[in-house]
Amino acid sequence: MKKIVVAGFKGRMGSTAAKMVLDNEDFDLVGVYDPRATETSLAGDATFNNVDVPVFTEREAILSVKPEIWIDFTVPAAAVKNTKFALEHDISPVVGTTGFTDDDVKQLQAIAKKRQVGGLIAPNFGLSAVLMMQFAKQAAKYFPDVEIIEMHHDNKLDAPSGTALKTAEMMQKERGDKPQGNPDETESLPGARGANYHGMRIHSVRLPGLIAHQQVQFGAVGEGLTIRQDTYDRASFMTGVALACRKVTDHHELFDGLEYLL
Ligand code: NAP
Repeated sequence: MKKIVVAGFKGRMGSTAAKMVLDNEDFDLVGVYDPRATETSLAGDATFNNVDVPVFTEREAILSVKPEIWIDFTVPAAAVKNTKFALEHDISPVVGTTGFTDDDVKQLQAIAKKRQVGGLIAPNFGLSAVLMMQFAKQAAKYFPDVEIIEMHHDNKLDAPSGTALKTAEMMQKERGDKPQGNPDETESLPGARGANYHGMRIHSVRLPGLIAHQQVQFGAVGEGLTIRQDTYDRASFMTGVALACRKVTDHHELFDGLEYLL
């Protein structure tokens, strides 16, 4: 049984992850973490079937239950510190929180390498999203003119989404830098053309009712290609989270993307 702790267990993703851990026989939920929690156990919380799992408000206290895996769905500022803490205590992080900078990832990868701890930071645990990114990377080789339209629920804190940034990064490796649109174009309303990533434009839509969706739209003379991915239920992310929990401890480095474990 893998001993797992879930940080951010009251959130939309964290609560889904904690339930997933409880539902899998090879996983043992040894604790949940939220520094603002007031309860000391999940007993009494019907969402989690009233299981008597300790609720931690201090990171250090979590060490008492000896977790092997730290699932994190919190906020970027907390998640960077949590991941560092996990790695420094030989706990494998499985991080879904988005908003990490390249420097954050590099620093955490260096700690993982030094301590030989396996871990994963994945902006998207959905299989359809991982495939969408891979297909987009393939297409960018032949269609360098591309814009990303990412669409999320209106409670999302970061923009553009981690998935959009990762997609852009993967496509940039194929297409390189290329300015798009009319070189003389102007914006009468600032931001109208979206964010600029090495010439690719990224547009972030935030609306109630949405979960997580992305369209990667390629254009060329006389033809177009659109790759679209839709998340209808947060449960879809859990296949990837469970897979990561099962595989991550076999490794000794911190991966940046679920594709490394597939
Ligand atoms: P959410 O519902 O706002 O949940 C965030 C949770 O983090 C809240 O319960 C919050 O608790 C808690 N939190 C805040 N500060 C904390 C800290 N210092 N330590 C521990 N917990 C803390 O957000 P969400 O929709 O679940 O999303 C969480 C993250 O996952 C976001 O970064 C989002 O982009 C990402 N995400 C990733 C994937 C993926 O597949 N990788 C998919 C969807 C979302 P309080 O309420 O007490 O502040």
